Amino acid sequence: MTSTNPAPDRTDQMPTLPTGLAERLVAWRRDFHKHAETGWTEFRTTSAIIGVLRDLGWDTKFGPDLHDADSRLGVPSAEVLAGERERAVAQGADPLLVEAMGEGFTGVLGVLETGRPGPVVCFRFDIDSNNLVELADDSHRPFAEGFASVNDGAMHGCGHDGHAAIGLGLATALSEHQDELTGTVKIIFQPAEEGVRGAHSIVAAGWFDDVDLFVATHLKSDDAKGNIVTGSDGYLASTKFDVTFTGIGSHAGGDPEKGKNALLAAASATLVLHAIPRHSGGASRINVGTFNAGEGRNVVPRKAVIRVETRGQDSEINDFMFGRAQDVIAGAARMYDVQSELSVVGRADREDPSPELLPYVRESFTGVPGVAEIRDSSGVGGSEDATAMMKRVKERGGLATYVQIGMGTTAGHHTERFDVDEDMLALGVLAELRVALGAAEFLGGLGQ
Ligand SMILES: [Zn+2]
Ligand SMILES: [Zn+2]
Repeated sequence: MTSTNPAPDRTDQMPTLPTGLAERLVAWRRDFHKHAETGWTEFRTTSAIIGVLRDLGWDTKFGPDLHDADSRLGVPSAEVLAGERERAVAQGADPLLVEAMGEGFTGVLGVLETGRPGPVVCFRFDIDSNNLVELADDSHRPFAEGFASVNDGAMHGCGHDGHAAIGLGLATALSEHQDELTGTVKIIFQPAEEGVRGAHSIVAAGWFDDVDLFVATHLKSDDAKGNIVTGSDGYLASTKFDVTFTGIGSHAGGDPEKGKNALLAAASATLVLHAIPRHSGGASRINVGTFNAGEGRNVVPRKAVIRVETRGQDSEINDFMFGRAQDVIAGAARMYDVQSELSVVGRADREDPSPELLPYVRESFTGVPGVAEIRDSSGVGGSEDATAMMKRVKERGGLATYVQIGMGTTAGHHTERFDVDEDMLALGVLAELRVALGAAEFLGGLGQ
């Protein structure tokens, strides 16, 4: 052991996974895929996860205890949630658990206390689906094999069904290896990652304040099968927001001067938002993704709604984009003498992995069957609210990273053809089991 690489050499130690776990991983993943649930409506998925964790003897935290209620972003209306609760129960969710999740307090934290002193190690898996209509065609395996989503407009098009399965597999494997562990293992099954909405309220509730080592995980279609990134560092800071312009309607022929045109305000805002200058400090993005306005051909439009996002290579650049966007929206409203109301429905920071953790994660993946090339850095891509968890862990002196597992699949994320390479599920479980099993010795070696 040297001071530059304090991680112990464990290439000759490869734990075994519980018998039949590979098959269970596939069954869990397909069950979640078939019953896809979008952000804050993961009632059935959460209920199923709690059931497995309880059977393993893990402690479970869920419902309002898991979240700081006011920090939740982009929660659907009470009416939508009531319908989704009913749907979840009809699809086999435990009615008492669904009741306990109330107004969209979905997700669950599983806690395994060994009773022996040691570090707190935490893994994060997101569990929500996309708002997407799944391809109904025999060329798409989930459809051909009968596990395509039965929930209209909800589809696992990002691999979170696989993440939830890996989380349950990891819990199962950790239970079997419990005697070799010290300290505490936490597994957070996070809701509402799509739209970067679900992490903040769990962080605000304090569940990450004691975490010494944190690993978030994502399956990735556009990296070769078995390629691993130990420290994904390309996530952009982002703010997602809705803007409603409210004017006054009037007869477009008889009384046009009496109207206040909300559509024109939104249209002007849309064009100027896309003309915000670039930032010299790094990459920036803006997108007005939807625009809805007006009622009839001969009515001056009194209402317009746009859905917008800004992004930046770091939080400062994103703050610049969001700040300018607010000015543009206020200015456009003033120009047309209408009201504007902006609400933030999602948010993510940029947070880089802890460099000193990466050699240990690299070593944990080394030698795991199916692992190909291991890199420590990724390219700039989307946004992730797990960065809020990473930030909190690092602030409190812990180490955090974000791992990507390449699948080499053809359909991109968020497309109607997306599918998971199920071989990668057991690979993820085994490597992350090794992360947990060696954590106390690794952190001890760092003097943590
Ligand atoms: Zn996604
Ligand atoms: Zn995702």
